[in-house]
Amino acid sequence: MKKTYYFANWKMYQSFAGIDAFLMEYATDNVLAADADVYVGIAASYEHIYYLSQKLENSSLYLGAQDCSQFLHGAYTGQVSLQSLMQMQLSFCIVGHSEVRQLLGQSYETIALKFKVLLAANISPILCIGETLVQKEDGVTLQILYDQLESVLEFLQSYQGTTKIFIAYEPVYAIGTGVIPETHELQEIFYFLQKLVKELPVAKNIMFLYGGSVHTQTIGLLKNLEGISGFLIGKASIDFQALKKIVECE
Ligand code: PEP
Repeated sequence: MKKTYYFANWKMYQSFAGIDAFLMEYATDNVLAADADVYVGIAASYEHIYYLSQKLENSSLYLGAQDCSQFLHGAYTGQVSLQSLMQMQLSFCIVGHSEVRQLLGQSYETIALKFKVLLAANISPILCIGETLVQKEDGVTLQILYDQLESVLEFLQSYQGTTKIFIAYEPVYAIGTGVIPETHELQEIFYFLQKLVKELPVAKNIMFLYGGSVHTQTIGLLKNLEGISGFLIGKASIDFQALKKIVECE
């Protein structure tokens, strides 16, 4: 069976008490840990990462960040350096999440730079791409996805590393709304994305994820999609039982 990747994007939802409760349930109901075909990663906010890293020693949960600076270190107030991500031995980091793109106005180039520095540090990037509802209605979805990927694809033409790369398709209108695209729309998009990367030297290390309103009611449909390796899960992932149901759904 192929390994399936589940990344919990805890955004700014979680608290220290919530983390304790989550880990308590995880420890007493350790089904997720027992399955070698299941990878569960937690993208925590910075103030929780160190706390979690202490608690996750000897655990099968992987730890990652929700964003990082494109700079190694220096005078960048409010940013978090890649160096500290490396020191905390994080496995992955999300870049280009639509909430960050919108809130902080990060350009395609800045996001591509973050993607590159993460790979240089052997930390798996999870690059989020996705169109807004207006763009979908205007029929420009594939063009938008291509634009968001262009610099990264260019860079990957000559990248020879072995770090796993994740590309998460997250339609903006699906995030936190309970609405997911039709299966045939998703399938068309994932075929398009697969085609874009198929000639790259590292194609076999590139995995696609779906994100946006993945929860216990939608996962059944989403698990039938072809050509994806897993899911990026927001709100539902802070509840251990919901996450467990998502993972176990067949
Ligand atoms: C996300 O924003 O990455 C996400 C998947 O959110 P949600 O599952 O809450 O829609």
